[in-house]
Amino acid sequence: MSTQFQIEAKSGSGRAGKLITPHGEVETPVFMPVGTLASVKGVPQDVLEELGVQILLGNTYHLYLRPGVETVRRMGGLHGFMSWERSILTDSGGFQVFSLNDLRKVTEEGVTFRSHLDGSLHFFTPESAMAGQIGLGADIIMAFDECTEYPAERERVRESMELTLRWAERSKRYFEEHKEEVPWGDSQRSRARRQAAKQVTADRSQESGATQALFGIVQGGMDRELRRESALRTVEIGFPGYAIGGLSVGEPREMTREIVESTLEYLPADKPRYLMGVGTPEEIAQYAAMGVDMMDCVLPTRAARHGLLFTSEGKISIKQARYAQDENALDPRCGCRVCQRYSRAYLRHLYASNEMLAQVLNSEHNLHFYLETMRRVRASTQDRVASK
Ligand SMILES: [Zn+2]
Repeated sequence: MSTQFQIEAKSGSGRAGKLITPHGEVETPVFMPVGTLASVKGVPQDVLEELGVQILLGNTYHLYLRPGVETVRRMGGLHGFMSWERSILTDSGGFQVFSLNDLRKVTEEGVTFRSHLDGSLHFFTPESAMAGQIGLGADIIMAFDECTEYPAERERVRESMELTLRWAERSKRYFEEHKEEVPWGDSQRSRARRQAAKQVTADRSQESGATQALFGIVQGGMDRELRRESALRTVEIGFPGYAIGGLSVGEPREMTREIVESTLEYLPADKPRYLMGVGTPEEIAQYAAMGVDMMDCVLPTRAARHGLLFTSEGKISIKQARYAQDENALDPRCGCRVCQRYSRAYLRHLYASNEMLAQVLNSEHNLHFYLETMRRVRASTQDRVASK
């Protein structure tokens, strides 16, 4: 058994549901914190659990380069390696290859690229990207796609979309033939830890036949017609979930919204829909209301490291001198541990002094704010249904 999806309530286009993976339940709509290198920067796994994180994301490109898929596989996959027994999703590596490599070369077979770490040459194909993601052992993995640059000519977008469709078929074929190779429960450490933790969430990864789920990715640039075609043909190939990729690549926000809306129309209502790489708190709430079930973004943790904090009264730049004597909580309406305990003056001091704790506390608050935003959308979707 792999991932199942249940819709519990609908309000307008928005849905409240449950994604049940082999490593537990994920309440949707969900915001997934990004743990690029098997770490959500500055936030330990036990704190992520306390924050209520049910699923997090790892980046295949980065993990492939360091520490390498084989190391992670031997440790029981990402769950064992990073000691995280809840759900994980990995991207295919496609987006990073395209965004971090000026020297990439794309052919029908795959992509040649240089490591941003040491300049060494590497080659990704749909097959090797699947093998890598099976070795990393996330619950949900993504088909290998080409993220089309923006802006691009229509003919270029069409060719890129066609390539992504052929790669989607190759991804699926390889995955179906190799999905039994997922390394769950292989390491002694994983077994011991699971017993010690007495599993708060149901762990079905040890049941016979438990496998990963492979999601397809819709491309098609900023062209509504090509998006429609990409969506319909990706659905025809058939996946248990669908992502909208190739957005947040420099296009205006209004265009992102239009493309998301017109793509959602062509995705099956009973399957999870994942919008990759967005957005601000206001945007993720808006996309959830439009019917997106899953989102990820580096913004809350990246902004936190630059002293930008999201609050119920808007964005705060904690480095500003005006907070030097401010005894108030960062966000008086926030229930997170940071806001319960520390003043703006203290957080400003930590940031100005370049204390490590500044990044830790800022990241924790911003993640809480994002997760809480999704929990509110979810609750209001259920309430609106209940009050009908
Ligand atoms: Zn807070």
